[in-house]
Amino acid sequence: MIMKDILAIHGGKPVRETYLPYGRQWIDEEDIKAVVDILKGDYLTTGPTIKAFEERIADYVHSKYAVAISNGTAALHAACFAAGIKEGDEVITTPMTFAASANCVLYQGATPIFADIDPKTYNLNVEAVERKITEKTKAIIPVDFTGQAVDLDKILKLAEKYGLIVIEDAAHALGTSYKGKKVGSISDMTTFSLHPVKHITTGEGGVITTNDETFYNQLRMFRTHGITRDARLLELKGQGAWYYEQLALGYNYRITDIQCALGMSQLGKLESFIQKRRDLVKQYHGSLASIDGIILPYESAFSDSSWHLYIVQLALEKFTVGRKEIFEALQAENIGVNVHYIPVYYHPYYQQLGYKKGLCPNAETLYENSITLPLFPMMEAQDVEDVVTAIKKVLNYYRKA
Ligand SMILES: *Cc1c(COP(=O)(O)O)cnc(C)c1O
Repeated sequence: MIMKDILAIHGGKPVRETYLPYGRQWIDEEDIKAVVDILKGDYLTTGPTIKAFEERIADYVHSKYAVAISNGTAALHAACFAAGIKEGDEVITTPMTFAASANCVLYQGATPIFADIDPKTYNLNVEAVERKITEKTKAIIPVDFTGQAVDLDKILKLAEKYGLIVIEDAAHALGTSYKGKKVGSISDMTTFSLHPVKHITTGEGGVITTNDETFYNQLRMFRTHGITRDARLLELKGQGAWYYEQLALGYNYRITDIQCALGMSQLGKLESFIQKRRDLVKQYHGSLASIDGIILPYESAFSDSSWHLYIVQLALEKFTVGRKEIFEALQAENIGVNVHYIPVYYHPYYQQLGYKKGLCPNAETLYENSITLPLFPMMEAQDVEDVVTAIKKVLNYYRKA
């Protein structure tokens, strides 16, 4: 007979003494100095560090333009504005994402349409997207879920066939490549988030990259009230040097020089952060593969992943309890597991708009069965080992005889 350890949730000793969160930023002295230098300088905002950061990002993803903005949600909102999305339009996206990927469509008065995911990659299923296209469809917002790129060639081909704009939500995928090309250089517009759990951080922050000058101008205007001083864009020509015009209803979505200085410093470490994530994932794969009842993330041939999230599925029929009990038992062992994501249309706000459960069965199944394991660059091999030990302890306890 196998002895079962007493679970921490039943009063046993937890696998870890300290709590391991699911994600965390990495800030070092160099980052702190970069921020302090800005605080001592002339420009806290609307200064040259914003432009410098944008150039570094564009250079990194090989896009023509980059626009830094207050957060990843504002990046999506600005992209929807630049794409001309308005009331009466439909925009197709995935339900397996953070609500912001769909909220940005609602901000513009348009309607988000949810297409189901591929049960293997967890990314939008391109055939499911095509089935949702109508006369009203204006754009597609695919999400590079967990850091693995959606099949962009197929998405772009579909977009071309129906005259749609592709706004790629790459909040998880800074540093990811698709068929050897960096995400951020491929879609009409690509948005990134610089929230502390993402690959690099500015506290709050976001970026949109594009190769299109018209989108670029629209994005910059939207970030600052819809106002421009660019002589080429002004309606009235030949005015004085003080002159500016508000050409659209924009917002104050500006990012600060303080944040961009942090972003520049962080960007210098991005490749090492990603490498660390990939090493930790390799260790997870190796240690978890032999555990019965766990389904590991699938890696598609056309994309590498910068691994924002490490999500496993549980074969729940093998256990005496559900995902909730397993989740809570792991938390009690001091393992900061999480769940990504509640399908967007499950939220009461979307339910009240008329979206019905059952809409995207693959996304719903993933939601029912999955847990996200801790993954961030400051983790050490021992932390992964603790997670694996806790998973073995909890799953063996609840395994059906
Ligand atoms: C984090 C995230 C966002 C929003 O970014 P914020 O910077 O938090 O506003 C949007 N989409 C996805 C998929 C995200 O993970």
